Amino acid sequence: MTNRDRNYSTEAIVIDRRAYGEADRILIVFTPKYGRLDVIAKGASKTKSRSGPYLDLCSWVTLELATGRDLDVVRSATPVRAFPTLHTDLARFCHASYLVELVKLITQPDEPHRAVFELLSRSLVLLDDGIDPWMVTRHFEMALLNELGYRPQLFKCVGCDDEITAQTNAFSPVLGGLLCPECRELDPHAIPLSVNAQKYLRLLQREGLAAVARVNPSEAERGEIQHALESYARYVADRDLRSLKALHGLTSSP
Ligand SMILES: [Zn+2]
Repeated sequence: MTNRDRNYSTEAIVIDRRAYGEADRILIVFTPKYGRLDVIAKGASKTKSRSGPYLDLCSWVTLELATGRDLDVVRSATPVRAFPTLHTDLARFCHASYLVELVKLITQPDEPHRAVFELLSRSLVLLDDGIDPWMVTRHFEMALLNELGYRPQLFKCVGCDDEITAQTNAFSPVLGGLLCPECRELDPHAIPLSVNAQKYLRLLQREGLAAVARVNPSEAERGEIQHALESYARYVADRDLRSLKALHGLTSSP
């Protein structure tokens, strides 16, 4: 199946987990070298388990693993960096849950993406450090989609290939980019974007987090940007995200 040694060690971020039998847990982790892996943590649900407490959703750990017949087995887990804020601030935890769910849904098992691991770990650190979660999440969506081959086309129309000009254009998740007014009808569900929202997306794509940190979009512009990126991420993931429902429930409540 793989060329991993019988016993091996890897950094990992827990991107999903579920109970298995009486006391075990199956974890989906994302690693720098092996990409997405399913592993089993035996006895992790027991109160006396030594590694159990370090294996929560979004935990960043070093795992010692033994190759198993079906699933590799966690022998021990030690934290690389704790995320104290993520685990006490519900809004930040919901954002973090969305990031890990996106990675789970968009990546394939045993497909290494070191850049995705770095993006994910860095984004969790930023969320934990108190950086604007809206901005960290938008940057994450854009960078993840770029990295995995879904770079949205924001400079030329995805319909006619003409240069996009400074006017209201519409973002089509299905076509993966902006549609000029003449091509707008190619996708009736395309999302109209103001000039400022388009500028923000381009800046995010070309120059990253440090550049957009200097911009302060209005509430309405934030809404447009978020709608475009979330819709595209959901389209690529090919399903509704559980974490997104929780996140929306949280932000729409008073
Ligand atoms: Zn066009």
